[in-house]
Amino acid sequence: MDGRRRRLLAVAIALCSLAGSPQASHAQRARRPPAATRVQLRKVGGWWIADSDNFQVCSYREAEQAEAAAVACERHRRRLAEALGLGSATAAWAPKCQAILHPTVQSYVAAAGRGAEATVGSSLVQPARGRITARRIDLRIDVKDYLDAALPHEICHLLIADHYRDEPPPLWYDEGLALLADPAEKLARHERDLRDGVRRGISFSAREILAAQRYPPAERMGVFYGQCASLTRFLLRQEAPAKLHQLVRRSREIGPNAALQAIYGVAGVGELERQWSAFQRASSEEMLSASLLAVDDGKPHELSAVQN
Ligand SMILES: [Zn+2]
Repeated sequence: MDGRRRRLLAVAIALCSLAGSPQASHAQRARRPPAATRVQLRKVGGWWIADSDNFQVCSYREAEQAEAAAVACERHRRRLAEALGLGSATAAWAPKCQAILHPTVQSYVAAAGRGAEATVGSSLVQPARGRITARRIDLRIDVKDYLDAALPHEICHLLIADHYRDEPPPLWYDEGLALLADPAEKLARHERDLRDGVRRGISFSAREILAAQRYPPAERMGVFYGQCASLTRFLLRQEAPAKLHQLVRRSREIGPNAALQAIYGVAGVGELERQWSAFQRASSEEMLSASLLAVDDGKPHELSAVQN
């Protein structure tokens, strides 16, 4: 979700939790759709519920919609875990992630919270530390390509959360990776916001981005997102994703200057700022807007394919 991450469980979670109880199961049937994702479908009240290995998708509309979303969720999860270098380290999700498909912006905002009107998807992991007790995605289906537009971004957040149970991941890294799973059109918007923010003198230094613990005020949100995506892209062009994960962990132990030197051979945050700015200046808007993790004609972009 752009702009904010929900930390509190929305009331609407009761919908699927209730429906998901074994006693409530009706009209069960199993199918094997393409991509070998096994999905169990059942109808509870007005809801169609599709259970796959890691997701429980709820649709108020139709069985096929719930089933297609469950297949897409599993596909994105598999693909993103691999591309992020988290594949073998990612265990099956227990509890499963509940994904609610909202037919209207009203029902979406009622679940995702005030201020969510401008977004198309939102994710939630609870609690922030320790064993995860709830995973949830709320998705608007009144937008075009909803299975590819917002879903990968939110699944990225959930995958990253699995690996940061002692302390939440840094904002720049969590958002930066999720943004790189967005479609090119959305990334182009963030890149324009970045350039506009730099022109207006409201951009952040590398030091500020690395240290950010909360989202900035609305007027600097666009440039913040653009810079998170840009810095993450820059680092992924230097080294494989595993090094980026290491940088985050080592920065906590020995500070960002020493961690940058040890893992990227970059002499501290000042030098990072210099190299990142040069990269940003030398790169075309088109290149900086290309999705690194998004699906293109059914074929995912792989991070390795865009590295130098
Ligand atoms: Zn996000």
